[in-house]
Order: sequence, then C-alpha cells, then structure tokens
Amino acid sequence: MTTQAFIGIGANLGDARGSVEQAILRLADLPASLLIAQSSLFKTAPIESSGDDYINAVAELRTDLSATDLLLVLQQIELAFGRERPYRNAPRTLDLDLLLYGLEQIHTDALTVPHPRMTERAFVLLPLLQISPLITIPGKGAAQDFAGVVAEQVIVELTS
Ligand code: AMP
Repeated sequence: MTTQAFIGIGANLGDARGSVEQAILRLADLPASLLIAQSSLFKTAPIESSGDDYINAVAELRTDLSATDLLLVLQQIELAFGRERPYRNAPRTLDLDLLLYGLEQIHTDALTVPHPRMTERAFVLLPLLQISPLITIPGKGAAQDFAGVVAEQVIVELTS
C-alpha cells in the first residue's frame, strides 16, 4: 500500500546546494514512488559536525517501497554522491535520512523511524513544517509542538 514518507536532505561539502537540488531530482526518479512536495532550501550552521554551513531540505514521497528498501535506495544515492564516512558526523557530500514512514515506528539495527533526532533539529523541523504543517510524529505528537524547542537554532531560508 502506498505510504507517505518524508526524507531529510543535507549537504555541507563541495557544491552543497547543487547536491541537495540533484538529490531531490533523484528522489523524484525513485522506483515505485512519487515526489509529492519539496521544501525550500535552508542554510544552517553545523550541529555535532564541522566544516561549512549545511544546506538542508525535506522531501515528501508517496512510495510502494518498504521502509527497508527505501533506506537502501537512499544509501545508494548517498554513495552516488561520493559520500565517505571517515569518522562519525564528518562533513558530508550528501546525507539522506528517512524521517517518517507513514505512522510506523521502526526499531531495527539498520533503521530507527521516526528519526530519533528530528524533533531537536530546526534544519529538519522547519522544512518539514513548511510542506506539512499538520504532520504528526508517531509516538511524539504534532511536529508543530516542537518548533519552540528549536527556536534558538539559526536557520535561513534560501530564496532563489
Ligand atoms: P548517518 O551517518 O547519519 O547517515 O547514519 C547512517 C546510519 O544510520 C546507517 O547505518 C543507517 O542504517 C542508520 N539509520 C538508522 N535510522 C535511520 C534513518 N531513519 N534514516 C537514515 N539512516 C538511519
């Protein structure tokens, strides 16, 4: 059955803005999936990471892929963008996170959904709320209720 899924996109190496834009095009091309919405691009300072500012966005899909298969194709896209993982939270060419997969709560070795840190990060919450203001995070409640938690984090919407 088709499932609504939200993907968090981030990049802070090389042409970060280009990487995020290209990643959205790749998401639009995924098998058995439709790109429903994409947020604006946002610029944020690194959290628990280093290097240049990040460019972030969130995309909404409808997909017939399982959560596990969706994660696999996301990881393939990351690899195609030349991501290396020399150390935890290293700067990255492209990071794709499965934020929400319908109303499911998933806890496996490979996958935790809802993404555990999504309610703490403005660079996830604000783009998500832009495209889906009424979205509920299973097990946590309305995404809107967490906007106050991230209000201190500096995030700038890119306009053109
Ligand atoms: P990261 O370095 O932040 O991209 O983390 C990648 C690792 O997180 C992979 O080994 C994934 O299996 C795991 N992971 C767990 N939950 C998720 C999720 N919701 N979205 C993406 N990766 C996840």
